[in-house]
Amino acid sequence: MKHNKIYDNGKYVPQRTCMGCRQVMPKSSMIRVTLRDGVVSVCKDSNADGRGAYICKNIECITKAQNSNGLQRGLKTKVSSEIYEECRNIAGQ
Ligand SMILES: [Zn+2]
Repeated sequence: MKHNKIYDNGKYVPQRTCMGCRQVMPKSSMIRVTLRDGVVSVCKDSNADGRGAYICKNIECITKAQNSNGLQRGLKTKVSSEIYEECRNIAGQ
């Protein structure tokens, strides 16, 4: 393993605010949506570059985020409904 900010054994676990429910959760359990070179994409690799916004892996949070334009505010750019669909697919797995 290379350098990684996430430590196991209950030590340092990075946390992020969900754009749906606004709760702070371990980011490893969340879906990350990134903005990179003007392109918004759903990212399974939490260490990817770019501006990121996070949502819990559950449909309710994704719907909340969509209704409140949570990702749009988090990323400061327009987020298409396809992105939310992609999040739903991941959450539904
Ligand atoms: Zn949430």
